[in-house]
Amino acid sequence: MSFQPIFEAQPWDDVKASIYAKTAADVAHALAAPQRTLEDFKALISPAAAPYLEQMAQLSHQLTRKRFGNTLQLYAPLYLSNECQNICTYCGFSLDNKIARRTLSSVEMLLEAAVLKDWGYDHVLLVTGEANVTVGIDYLEKALRTLRPQFAHISMEVQPLDQADYERLIPEGLNTVLVYQETYHRADYKKHHPKGKKSNFDYRLDTPDRLGRAGIHKMGLGVLIGLEDWRTDCFYTALHLDYLEKTYWQTKYSLSFPRLRPAEGMLQPKVEMSDRELVQLICAYRIWNGEVELSISTRESPVFRDHVIKLGITSISAGSKTNPGGYAVAPESLEQFEISDERSPPEIAAMLRRQGYEPVWKDWDAALA
Ligand code: SF4
Repeated sequence: MSFQPIFEAQPWDDVKASIYAKTAADVAHALAAPQRTLEDFKALISPAAAPYLEQMAQLSHQLTRKRFGNTLQLYAPLYLSNECQNICTYCGFSLDNKIARRTLSSVEMLLEAAVLKDWGYDHVLLVTGEANVTVGIDYLEKALRTLRPQFAHISMEVQPLDQADYERLIPEGLNTVLVYQETYHRADYKKHHPKGKKSNFDYRLDTPDRLGRAGIHKMGLGVLIGLEDWRTDCFYTALHLDYLEKTYWQTKYSLSFPRLRPAEGMLQPKVEMSDRELVQLICAYRIWNGEVELSISTRESPVFRDHVIKLGITSISAGSKTNPGGYAVAPESLEQFEISDERSPPEIAAMLRRQGYEPVWKDWDAALA
């Protein structure tokens, strides 16, 4: 059992054409439906839904409040390494970028963690590039053993691993894995990932299946918006999620929608997504799926984040540094991408409270499971 045949049965050009053929009547049907299908989701992300944005925003807000109440989870990334054997056309850590490389030691990890703990964080997202020797499975296991006593919830955004590797890391405290497909357009994926293990489209596509079989608590999906037609890419994300929820029903899921940000040596986005379109996408995900968590990072501007949190978002990063050692050990090293919202975690927490939300600093505690 895998997502592969479901994916192959839906050719890119057919999916794209069917999204752009949706009409106002399809959108009205989707908004009125008691349960929304993937065809309804296509209507909600289509250009025909643009005039319905206000109605979508209200519905998305109501559904989110009903399911998630007035809480918003806060998390911070902790970059452990910028070493990477891949070439990705959009990333500051790409192998072909001549930057100083650094991998944190256990002592340095704890120095970084202390800053996050001081802010109140109990949920951390560990991030590395993809370098088998320096940040392979042994290093990841060491990181979990070092940091598990510090945090109630540990997420990872690192290289895709084999199922056996996930089965080794989960007992060490790995709760959540984020693995973004970047784009579901097979040919363009190859253009953006010309060298390294990441150039294997199918291995990446199969990663959520390996995670599901390994019994991960939560996984996060998404695409990098700007590489290809965002509507089509986000439909495939929804298709993937739909399959995973039915297959690995005990796992929880989250979605992210990062827009390409400036980075050292990076390409310009092929497709620009406006703020209104990103709001439309967030609302469409929520209206289609009342359970999935929706996350927004510091890639987005303060003004945008302040407005969008009411429309379906359930988790938000704050105070993020996207360079290894960025919080305490080496604040001046090169970032993976420039962040847009530079407000501190206390400032973000105060903003959330002003809007009637309770900031939650931990996601999930293994002791409560
Ligand atoms: S996106 Fe990830 S795999 Fe690609 S260059 Fe950056 S760190 Fe490496």
